[in-house]
Amino acid sequence: MTRAIVRPSGLDLDSPGRRDYWVALEHDSTWGDHLLPLTVIVGDQVEAGRGLVAFGANHGNEYEGPVAIKHLLHEINSADVCGRLILVPVLNPAAFGSGTRESTADDGVNLNRAFVEGAGLTPALKGITHRIAAFVREYIWPRVHVVQDIHAGGRGHRFALCTSFHHVEDPEQRRIIEATARWFGTPFVMIYQDDTPGLLPSEAERLGKITVGTELGWGETVNPEGVRYACHGIRAAAIHHGQLRGAIEPIGHHADGTQKLVAMVDRNCFTPAPFSGHYEPRMNCGTFVRRGDTVGLLHDFQRVDEQPWPVRAGIDGYVLCQAARAPVAQGLHILVVAQEVD
Ligand SMILES: [Zn+2]
Repeated sequence: MTRAIVRPSGLDLDSPGRRDYWVALEHDSTWGDHLLPLTVIVGDQVEAGRGLVAFGANHGNEYEGPVAIKHLLHEINSADVCGRLILVPVLNPAAFGSGTRESTADDGVNLNRAFVEGAGLTPALKGITHRIAAFVREYIWPRVHVVQDIHAGGRGHRFALCTSFHHVEDPEQRRIIEATARWFGTPFVMIYQDDTPGLLPSEAERLGKITVGTELGWGETVNPEGVRYACHGIRAAAIHHGQLRGAIEPIGHHADGTQKLVAMVDRNCFTPAPFSGHYEPRMNCGTFVRRGDTVGLLHDFQRVDEQPWPVRAGIDGYVLCQAARAPVAQGLHILVVAQEVD
């Protein structure tokens, strides 16, 4: 397989056939380029403005997305593609290269906060991470109506495996997004707060696209169930949204009817650490709890003779997320409980 190194302007994302690229984006500080792997497969029934994109490594230390999409590069038969698939196993090669959430070795920016006005255009927002956001805006958004942004907990948080989306105003868009999210087969489908600026999925949702995010693992590892859910969810979305021929059966918690739709929008869902300390989980993610239940303990080893602070659920619901590492900084959300949605 030959993978051509091209500038963004040299991409062909529209002609029928398969093309494998390294998209070259200028390095910030040395003679060189960041190379972003991108494969496009275009079928004979492709429509303008329609297609599916799957992104891995929006954050550089979350590995289920890159692994799953790398598998799909080999597993998807080009003859089965009727519309357009754009597969990007590593969206932020700067962060992936340093093995960190942000582009630590370069501009230090979090790509999933970089979709802001002027990204890649104004001099103050010209670092590699904002230029990746600008690349997505100029080249990807005009060609897709389905967006899959595969995340995991990275270093900081462990999760009950879930797909995710925000509240969107349009009920039809909302219905289709939820159905698409359910097909991953994860135990939870999570609706989350939309107060954080600069998110890739928030922008895709505002553009009316069928947008699904995920949390498919944690701890900078590769979760085997997470990879399975990612491969299946991306393939199911491609089939159901007219880009890939074939049939597909539900898996996991989608197949057996145990999948739960939950929301973490209410601020009572979140428990921040009141002081820096060490977090001891007493329950696994996915456990149902009542408001006031002690889910974990926060220890202060500078006050080693004091009792630990009980980390309590702020609402009734499921433990969706907890701190993954024992040392936690003051203010970190060490516990997130998500409410079941009818
Ligand atoms: Zn992430």
